[in-house]
Amino acid sequence: MGGVPKKRHTKGSRNQRRMHLFLKNPSFSQCAKCGKPVKSHHACPFCGHYRGKEAVDVFSRLDRKQRRDRESEIAAQGAAKETKTSETAG
Ligand SMILES: [Zn+2]
Repeated sequence: MGGVPKKRHTKGSRNQRRMHLFLKNPSFSQCAKCGKPVKSHHACPFCGHYRGKEAVDVFSRLDRKQRRDRESEIAAQGAAKETKTSETAG
């Protein structure tokens, strides 16, 4: 009767058990559009694209200046990517 433990668990066995509860760093994949790290199976928080399509309209939430900055940064990322691919191809 009663859930009374018969023997004390050592710190080592306790820690070994809790090792599986340890939070790991989330793994990120790269956004195909802007190259930023993105959580897998999530739309990109930076450009709003998911699997090559625009899933979220991120620009609608920004004011005009932020929008311009972000558009230019995405364009720069895309240009850098294109030059990279052409270099590897040629
Ligand atoms: Zn992106």
